Amino acid sequence: MPRLKSRLPEVGTTIFTVVSRRARELNALNLGQGYPDYPIDPRLTALVTRAMQDGRTQYAPMEGLMSLRQRIADKIARSYGVTADPEREITVTLGATEAIFSAILAVVQPGEEVIAFDPAYDSYEPAVRLAGGRCVRIPLTLPDFRYDWPQVAAAMSARTRLVLFNSPHNPACTVASAEDLAQLAALAVRHDALVLSDEVYEHMVFDGGRHHSVLAHPALRERSFAVFSFGKTLHATGMRIGYCVAPPEFTTELRKVHQFNTFSISHPAQAAIADYLAERPQTGDELAGFFQAKRDRLRAALAGSGFGLPPAQGTYFQLLDYSAFAPPDDLAFAERLITEGGVASIPLSPFYERAPPLPFVRLCIAKSDALIDAAGERLRGFAARLKASS
Ligand code: GLN
Repeated sequence: MPRLKSRLPEVGTTIFTVVSRRARELNALNLGQGYPDYPIDPRLTALVTRAMQDGRTQYAPMEGLMSLRQRIADKIARSYGVTADPEREITVTLGATEAIFSAILAVVQPGEEVIAFDPAYDSYEPAVRLAGGRCVRIPLTLPDFRYDWPQVAAAMSARTRLVLFNSPHNPACTVASAEDLAQLAALAVRHDALVLSDEVYEHMVFDGGRHHSVLAHPALRERSFAVFSFGKTLHATGMRIGYCVAPPEFTTELRKVHQFNTFSISHPAQAAIADYLAERPQTGDELAGFFQAKRDRLRAALAGSGFGLPPAQGTYFQLLDYSAFAPPDDLAFAERLITEGGVASIPLSPFYERAPPLPFVRLCIAKSDALIDAAGERLRGFAARLKASS
């Protein structure tokens, strides 16, 4: 056997895959991996079927179908009041994950540094490493996961090529403020760094708050890759359609990687989404209300249980604070919750370079009301048992 030297020696299987597999094995209710368990809009299903029947089954253009890129430009204009050129600034990707990966590979050179904020989504650092870069991880401040901008300023230098930014934030469930974007912009300009902004939960901002996109911030717009997801917006994570919006020179470099990474993305899925957006240009507007109701349903189910529920400003997750019941070892608590409580959750420590004691696990609220209710009941029962045994 030839000896194989891993390029990612510390990397195992993602926590999402591990937890979903365990949930199936243990028959646990799965509030772990973020994906809906309810059906998509049947109209979208019909449009995918129609695209297949119409023979839209050969390679789509490398950059994405023009009809879809045009609808994306319309959507951006509608959401953020800004223009994006579908020809030179919008690229359709295999989910947001490919956009993130291809953008990082396109711009990070060996030896360069990339800033990421912990807890950081698990795909960021491996992409930086494969590019030969070094990830500099800066923790958000606990307990409410805020940016420590003076610390960010101290970590940035001429070596910083890119800042990985994410709002609404998975898994912290926070939404960056206009002031956060101003701080980010000032530092990026000062160090001539680029920004990769992961905005896949753009429409899931609650309690009347609003999402601040880098696209609507002129200084960030000209130095950012902004990444979005139809998987999230259409409740269809398995369609694997995302997109990246970036200035023309950035997009040119992104496409050099994209074309040899995935080449082009599912043609019938793109055609169907383009048709769907043409019929329903308001797509996305309903998501804040829809997911806020789910969040509130779960919160109501757990009121008085002894579990703490930190504010969830956005995303389709809710953190569960178990500090009343167990020490802040989130891996151990998630394990007990799935084996003894019958509910799968996602611990936060896999999203850290050096995890502090964490009294939280993440629950997904993008689930049917029946599943939320059943999980709420199990969580209450588990809390009662923990209380009784303490
Ligand atoms: N984005 C999803 C989450 O945070 C997981 C996607 C995946 O499994 N790669 O749960």
